[in-house]
Amino acid sequence: MTTPAITRAMFDDVMVPNYAPGKIIPVRGQGSRVWDQEGKEYVDLAGGIAVTSLGHAHPGLLGALTSQAEKIWHLSNVMTNEPAIHLARTLCDLTFAERVFFANSGGEANEAAFKLARRHAWTHFGPEKHEIIAFRNSFHGRTLFTVSVGGQPKYLEGFEPAPQGIHHADFNDLASVEKLISDKTCAIVVEPIQGEGGIMPAAPGFLEGLRELCDKHNALLVFDEVQTGVGRTGHFYAYQKYGVTPDILSTAKSLGGGFPVGAMLTTAKIAESLGVGTHGSTYGGNPLACAVAQRVVDIVSQPDVLKGVEARSTRLRQGMEAIGEKYGVFDQVRGAGLLLGGVLSEKWQGKAKDFLNAGLDEGVMVLIAGPNVVRLAPSLIIPESDIEEAMVRFERAVAKVAG
Ligand SMILES: *Cc1c(COP(=O)(O)O)cnc(C)c1O
Repeated sequence: MTTPAITRAMFDDVMVPNYAPGKIIPVRGQGSRVWDQEGKEYVDLAGGIAVTSLGHAHPGLLGALTSQAEKIWHLSNVMTNEPAIHLARTLCDLTFAERVFFANSGGEANEAAFKLARRHAWTHFGPEKHEIIAFRNSFHGRTLFTVSVGGQPKYLEGFEPAPQGIHHADFNDLASVEKLISDKTCAIVVEPIQGEGGIMPAAPGFLEGLRELCDKHNALLVFDEVQTGVGRTGHFYAYQKYGVTPDILSTAKSLGGGFPVGAMLTTAKIAESLGVGTHGSTYGGNPLACAVAQRVVDIVSQPDVLKGVEARSTRLRQGMEAIGEKYGVFDQVRGAGLLLGGVLSEKWQGKAKDFLNAGLDEGVMVLIAGPNVVRLAPSLIIPESDIEEAMVRFERAVAKVAG
């Protein structure tokens, strides 16, 4: 069998049309640079949507993957394996957690988190206590349960009937949560910084307030750290930056550095509610995934790497603010660490995608977070010189759109 010449045009002939990928096909990456089929080079400030936390082709990750590949690839959970236990041990040592469930994506980690929250309430208080409070504009994944908990109705449209007992409050508005919470509430689910919803950080006191409300009503506090986790904010998890500890935390994206893996972290006591046979995943805890994630975690948790995120953040924020001011395109640059959003000014509302496309033309990959925010989520170890070059190219892109 010969391989056909692969082109972007073929995408539309063979793929379900749920994505609208850009017009180039990247074929190779090294650090924070990527090359497409034509050999054109890009600086990567997108990081595969906050995933390639150590850039492309990191030698440590390559080593972890290939050495595990020579040993054993897969067992399923009929057997356990060394990389999974090692990674769980490390995640517990680095966090509040005492127990870990492995999944393959953020959506699956959240699915486990929400099922555990319900099962825990069912076990200790009975079936009435099943309500989940989440937030408008939040994003938790694309399974039916996670789009239902997510606060963007367009992602649920046409897929109903949805799971019941889910209510949405306004992010950063404790009063709106107080109106919904009761002894029927089993969990409050929140992103410490809303990612897909526009890089919106929790306001001071908000997460503390949620913690208090949960304690008062015997509800669990679930932090979705799929986007904010594993060094993204300059802390290993964002909850450590905010100083508010959840009962359950979901993590994925940066955790695998590009290898699909997700995890749900919780306490020993809460974990008891997911007894033998209550939940599972064939691939969850796969040795290849866990070996790669182990290396990611070992590197990212080093204090100098986390400190480096802060330095890079400052430079990137300054660069974006300067461009924003010069061309009048951004009202502000918000977020934390290397999860930053340039919020488009009045005049450029709805035009985020234009800046992304102009960026590609000029050789810099950026992301959007909704129609009004240009999002950056690069490698946590992106070289400073790549940041400088990216800002030069992004300014050219902005000049083209707005100049
Ligand atoms: C990306 C994301 C998810 C979904 O993760 P997948 O790996 O795409 O399933 C869930 N929650 C948040 C906050 C995310 O950013």
